[in-house]
Amino acid sequence: MRTFAYLSPSGEPRIGVVYENVRYDFTRIWQIFKEIRNSPRTPDYHFIQLMIETGNFSAEDLLEVIEEVKGFRGLEDLIIKGEITYDVPIQRPTKIICMARNYRKHAEEFNSEVPTSPKVFLKSTAALLPNEGAIRIPRDIGRVDHEIELAVIIGETATQVTEEEAMKHVAGYTIANDVTARSLQKEAKDKGEPWTLCKGMDTFLPIGPYVVPADAIDDPHNLNIELTVGDETRQKSNTSYMLFSIPTIISYISQYITLMPGDIICTGTPEGVGPIKSGDLVQCKIEGLGVLRNTVI
Ligand code: MG
Repeated sequence: MRTFAYLSPSGEPRIGVVYENVRYDFTRIWQIFKEIRNSPRTPDYHFIQLMIETGNFSAEDLLEVIEEVKGFRGLEDLIIKGEITYDVPIQRPTKIICMARNYRKHAEEFNSEVPTSPKVFLKSTAALLPNEGAIRIPRDIGRVDHEIELAVIIGETATQVTEEEAMKHVAGYTIANDVTARSLQKEAKDKGEPWTLCKGMDTFLPIGPYVVPADAIDDPHNLNIELTVGDETRQKSNTSYMLFSIPTIISYISQYITLMPGDIICTGTPEGVGPIKSGDLVQCKIEGLGVLRNTVI
């Protein structure tokens, strides 16, 4: 079960769902479900974040809604046909928190210390970019790198949660590319300055195409992860190599910063990061989560 955000031909934001390998208009399915259940005061769903905030985002919930509508009147006319324009799946997170050096071999490729506690930084929400959008690199900023990462979407507010409780606060997963202005980052590191600009520029966080509910992923700590630029495989690893696991990360952050529904946590990148340039096609693939494709201009 996968959900995605897209724009209707008239530009209206909608939610799509992949059910039995076919794409359906979930915004309409939900409206019909509300009519069947006679609950007109329940909100319409045009944004995945609202489904998460109102606690209706498990694969189990989605399946119940789809199958009830299917049994009542069929789904034939709700199939999404042809090309679609993807939208950012989570558009207004209160924050995007990223992990630095969460794979040993990535820390080593920059001769950085392997951390003994999670290292976190914030990424600007202006950086969000949908599947098939173009990563825009400003002129004269030097080297810019790709960084494929498993992204966790928070489902329920988390303040000072334990590692044991942490996974209950996860709504789902998606793919992120933590695009980084590497030359500027090196300059910032050398001078002890913050990473706000080198990490947070417009279009520097492609995410998607899908948000897969947490209960549809058996083990987020055992997913193959691969990034290609053109025909060249640059990064190839598995989420099992993360230094700090998802519950450790969530518990750690939540001791100090409250996590809100829709917040995005990028769990760090494996080794193999490298430069991208205008004209490149970057494809990020994580097992069970599809392929995130972006061009570079
Ligand atoms: Mg990163």
